[in-house]
Amino acid sequence: MNARPRVADVLPDLAVLLRDGLETLGRPELVRQLDGLEITAACACENELCGSFYTVTPMRRWFRRGDEVTIDDPGGAVILDVVGGEIAYVEVLGRAGVRSAVRQAAGG
Ligand SMILES: [Zn+2]
Repeated sequence: MNARPRVADVLPDLAVLLRDGLETLGRPELVRQLDGLEITAACACENELCGSFYTVTPMRRWFRRGDEVTIDDPGGAVILDVVGGEIAYVEVLGRAGVRSAVRQAAGG
């Protein structure tokens, strides 16, 4: 049984932002991943403004070697780290409620 929280359930507003942003950027291969995208872990940093999270397992440090896809938004840019064509990490900064929602969902 898969108990991992889905991004679309935990952060519906962010999921819409990601979908619209990726469609605008012409990245249908990433849009297709959104429905099944799961939060596997919260970012471990101490920044109170950071609501970033991982969407793959196992967690490793290689995500920084991926492609960065930046979605500009008036509420602050959201950056996807894409590794091997797979969304691996979602960088979210300064969005109210995202950090607590992610931590609650990820159990951390
Ligand atoms: Zn962080």
